[in-house]
Amino acid sequence: MRKRLIVSLASAAALLLAVPAAASGPPAGFGAAGVGDPYYPTYGNGGYDVSHYDLHLKYQPATDRLEGTATLLATATQNLSRFNLDFALDVSEVLVNGRAARFATTGEQELEVTPAVPLAQGAQATIVVRYAGTPSKVSRYGFTAWLRTPDGGVAAGEPESAWWWFPSNDHPSDKATFDVSVLVPDGTQAISNGILTSQRSSLGWTRYSWRENKPQATYLATLAIGHFDISTGTTPGGLPVFNAYSKDLGENAGAARASVERTGELVDWLSGYFGPYPFSSAGGYVPNVPTGFALETQTRVFYSPRQFASGSNSSVVVHELAHQWYGDSVSVQHWSDIWLNEGFARYAQWLWSEHENEGTAQELADYVYATHPAGDAFWNVKPGDPGAENQFDIAVYDRGALAIQALRNTVGDTAFFEILKGWPAERRYGNASIAQFQAYAERISGRPLGDLLQTWLFTAARPAAPAAGAKGQAEAPQGLSASAAPGAPREPRSWKQIAATNAVHEHEHAREHGAR
Ligand SMILES: [Zn+2]
Repeated sequence: MRKRLIVSLASAAALLLAVPAAASGPPAGFGAAGVGDPYYPTYGNGGYDVSHYDLHLKYQPATDRLEGTATLLATATQNLSRFNLDFALDVSEVLVNGRAARFATTGEQELEVTPAVPLAQGAQATIVVRYAGTPSKVSRYGFTAWLRTPDGGVAAGEPESAWWWFPSNDHPSDKATFDVSVLVPDGTQAISNGILTSQRSSLGWTRYSWRENKPQATYLATLAIGHFDISTGTTPGGLPVFNAYSKDLGENAGAARASVERTGELVDWLSGYFGPYPFSSAGGYVPNVPTGFALETQTRVFYSPRQFASGSNSSVVVHELAHQWYGDSVSVQHWSDIWLNEGFARYAQWLWSEHENEGTAQELADYVYATHPAGDAFWNVKPGDPGAENQFDIAVYDRGALAIQALRNTVGDTAFFEILKGWPAERRYGNASIAQFQAYAERISGRPLGDLLQTWLFTAARPAAPAAGAKGQAEAPQGLSASAAPGAPREPRSWKQIAATNAVHEHEHAREHGAR
């Protein structure tokens, strides 16, 4: 393993502090290098909790040079003589509570920080990190999540994207509020999450200041710099909407706008199912990137232009906006809980199809079930615990939504829609596991759901019966393909549009992940 060690020459006094020699295991007082995620053991860190990120950045679109000062407000959850941040750019200085701290980089994205004065459990810490780099040139695990565009750059990726633009405790279990302020040359825009609180120009440079005032997971923080056409407004419910479109989307420009401009309408429509929208702004942006995925970055959804290459797609907008409740406001406890994000975002697309008279959720469920015969590899993926390599497999989406239809048919529509709306309120701005969802759904419905979820989420085989409605739906006999089965469900009219969003979380680096 390549190991790089950087010692801050500026903190000469700190050099006098001896670092305990690495004996057997991490010494007491060292924060863990990972938060304990079963899929990504080195992601996030132990020993502290961040409540706020203040990012003061400067970006040169011509060279992709990013300079920044990050100020993190944190609380030690144990005695800490050393702790880690996750970061990949070059660090020049670290201060903890105003005093120079020693720091070193290890592994792929670990920044080890040794404060001049150890932190006691419960102590508040202000951590300042000065840094710079060219994020598009920084590769970790064989990829970069920073997307270079002809006129700037974009940070968007799941589960990793923060390493390329700010130091963090990079795991959804540690959410925090954000102030992001970016200095860019006049004529260039900088877009991030939440509300644009100020925009000031001086001497050829403009500073854009953004605020996300609700807790946000680090992978849901986004930054886009480039030349954009901006569209602002409010929903009928009074929510501010901010959308942005790269000026060079070419022939995708019309379809992109025809889709993303429906954000306000679709937020209000989804509120009918999921309850009040949890954030103080909404919107999306479409930068000129060559990728194919979209991502539910908080309040400001990232869309690749390719999502609109075949025309407008309101379904992908529904998917990403559904995540604002299922994924952003209520975030996974561990990445293995990904069904709580993707199953429900896909199910929202089924509800939209039903609303648009393009196929009911039951018809979509029947079709998914019928098109994957027993023995199809589709059934090998357990949506409730897919493994890191299959975290964004199509089965997490389609079988995940099938599981939700099975839940609906088991508890009945009244309890089902009460659960659908009540869960985001129950866990608002927090984190949750699938087990906690099960307990909640059992409480609301009054039914034991362990066997149902075991069958649909945690078994690597095709369930014996489809997620049938009360009427009893046609079932493709096992071993027969749907087309060969008499009375097999027809393809719902919405199917192709929903399928067109399947690159939603496509990862350019999927192979690298799989090999890890
Ligand atoms: Zn999704």
